Amino acid sequence: MRVLLANPETSRSFYDFAGIIDDEPYELECLQAHLKGKGIEAEIWDGQSDKDFRRTFTDYKPDCVYFCGRTRQENFIKEYCEYSSNPVSWTKSGKVVTVVGGIHAQNCPERFREDYIDYIVSTFDPSAVSDIIEGKAPEEIAGISWNDGGIWHVNGKVPYDITEMPWADRTNFYRYGAKYCYLELRPIAVIRTAFSCPYSCAFCYRNRLNCHRYTARDIEDVVNEIESIDCENIYIIDDDFLVNILRLERFIGLIKERNIHRKFVCFGRADFIAKYPHVIKKLAGIGFYYILTGLEYIENRRLNDTNKRNNVNTNVRALRTCQENGINMMGMFITDLDFTAHDFGNLYKWIRHFDLKHVAISIYTPEMCLENFEEYKDRLITQDPAEWDYLHVVAKPEKLSVRRYYFHYHILLIRLFLRAKRQGVYDFMDYKAFIKSFLKNLFRFGG
Ligand code: SF4
Repeated sequence: MRVLLANPETSRSFYDFAGIIDDEPYELECLQAHLKGKGIEAEIWDGQSDKDFRRTFTDYKPDCVYFCGRTRQENFIKEYCEYSSNPVSWTKSGKVVTVVGGIHAQNCPERFREDYIDYIVSTFDPSAVSDIIEGKAPEEIAGISWNDGGIWHVNGKVPYDITEMPWADRTNFYRYGAKYCYLELRPIAVIRTAFSCPYSCAFCYRNRLNCHRYTARDIEDVVNEIESIDCENIYIIDDDFLVNILRLERFIGLIKERNIHRKFVCFGRADFIAKYPHVIKKLAGIGFYYILTGLEYIENRRLNDTNKRNNVNTNVRALRTCQENGINMMGMFITDLDFTAHDFGNLYKWIRHFDLKHVAISIYTPEMCLENFEEYKDRLITQDPAEWDYLHVVAKPEKLSVRRYYFHYHILLIRLFLRAKRQGVYDFMDYKAFIKSFLKNLFRFGG
């Protein structure tokens, strides 16, 4: 059996972060390691670094294709599955089995119930995929759905213990390493040390993953893997790496003991940063360069509504802690659907006042897998999953027309970008191309 593990492109327009933030397909690399361990030949096709799926499909001649991706990749996953399942595309005499897994399939498996898809995997357990490939009876494989002549059967969802996951096979990373980056950190290798998140913020689906079960790797194993990666930048993609103080202290100790020198990027909550400034100082000392923090809002009433268990004062203390220790906080904000022009302006003023240099602004996007999605169903202005990228307005704003909302959103982005340019924050990028693209979007979406 030859298996093609595929991660489709995230967008076919330039309305994304391609070339600015590009992760290696870590999930597929772990799956590849698992399959190779079982004696199954597997290759990776990463749509971020190679745009031609059909050529790879024809050259590689797979017996099975496995796709993973997020909501915004749904259309591409379906397009490639349909292509792969069409006998005209087959390069061998037998049928090509189509399997869809990954985060979006785990959260919304029903969206992939199509004639041309054979299996949907709703678990992080890579054995589900190897069992399918090895021809095990689907009734005996936990965490999957399968297509039985147009009738879909479901075999539940099962949590997975991340300590069972093999280290990623980095063949793909070393081949395309230079393409993978987080802003100016290039190349950057990805590592995951935990699945899911122990918190329960109302707007977020990450805590739902792995059947709501937070599971973390032994930190010594994590450090062993980091030590083995030939790359000076490491992106820890846990939804929240700053969870367990003892585990973190052990991590710091091991990195120091082994004299490992890397620049690190991780996600971390503001309340942890504010509570443990001495740990943040130590993290800075071992090379933590960016901490990506969901600040979300600049008003307590909005924060309270999200069940973030945080407040503006804590956000400010966290930001100050990072600034004092020379760590770049990437402050992530949400523009709510009830935002007015005033709210967009206030957000800019807040960011400028506290001298936050790195900022990411997401438009509030109701997640398809959350209970509150029903509340937004009547307000949706698009059904296209490609727009679930946090850069599009997908539900009708409350106080502004869609065009005016986009107008203020893009004005905010342009102001932030020009400010960043003055401060030299993004000097590694082609400023002109970005400003042109912002202006284009301003006229395309609103104005
Ligand atoms: S927003 Fe962050 S802390 Fe909250 S549930 Fe999601 S991943 Fe966890």
